[in-house]
Amino acid sequence: MKTGKLIIFSGFSGTGKGTIMNELLTRYPDEFCLSVSATTRSPREGEKEGVAYFFKNRDEFEKMISQDAFLEYAEYVGNYYGTPKEYVEQKLNSGKNVFLEIEMQGAMKVKEKLPQTVLVFILPPSVKTLVQRLRDRGTNSEDNIRQRMLQAKSEAENMDKYDYFVINDSLDKCIEDVRGIVDGNIPGDLPDKNFLDNIRTELEGLLKGDL
Ligand code: 5GP
Repeated sequence: MKTGKLIIFSGFSGTGKGTIMNELLTRYPDEFCLSVSATTRSPREGEKEGVAYFFKNRDEFEKMISQDAFLEYAEYVGNYYGTPKEYVEQKLNSGKNVFLEIEMQGAMKVKEKLPQTVLVFILPPSVKTLVQRLRDRGTNSEDNIRQRMLQAKSEAENMDKYDYFVINDSLDKCIEDVRGIVDGNIPGDLPDKNFLDNIRTELEGLLKGDL
């Protein structure tokens, strides 16, 4: 049987990675599955054990590290996050494509271990739209939005390391683009280097003044 593909999604906070993955899982349940990570951060309201994450304390997490239970793990904003190895290997061997939604350090570690991994970076149509989306959620303070944009700026400096970039503007188009990438029919209209440069310039300009 053909082995599945490992596909990593990263992107600035608020770009809708979760929505895109959920839509792909709903439309193609036989082809894709999602790896659930372990973390030492506390559950947020509504997050269920084994669905959002496997919630662990630091001792439990470190025990898993010593048992070599992770495909990768990273420390991010003071907490551990890691991808349990067994689930991913089992699903890939059964022919399913597996999604990981992880941050950049982890993505780079996986790519090093498994070079055939496909790294996809989800971009907003513009930084202005991203800030607007975060404001529209109504749950983020201006200070929190600024923090997220600062984080986005540092991620933008390294985003060239990704294999493909997809703009989350229309959900259908986005799904089509990811499908194409997974199937090896790379869409001809994915964002180019200029688009990435514009995003970086926009982020810098925005962080210099009021958002
Ligand atoms: P949050 O706390 O908002 O759920 O996640 C914070 C960051 O950790 C996000 O960028 C998310 O993609 C990343 N993340 C979630 N799970 C993993 C994981 O297993 N490994 C790594 N390296 N990052 C992860």
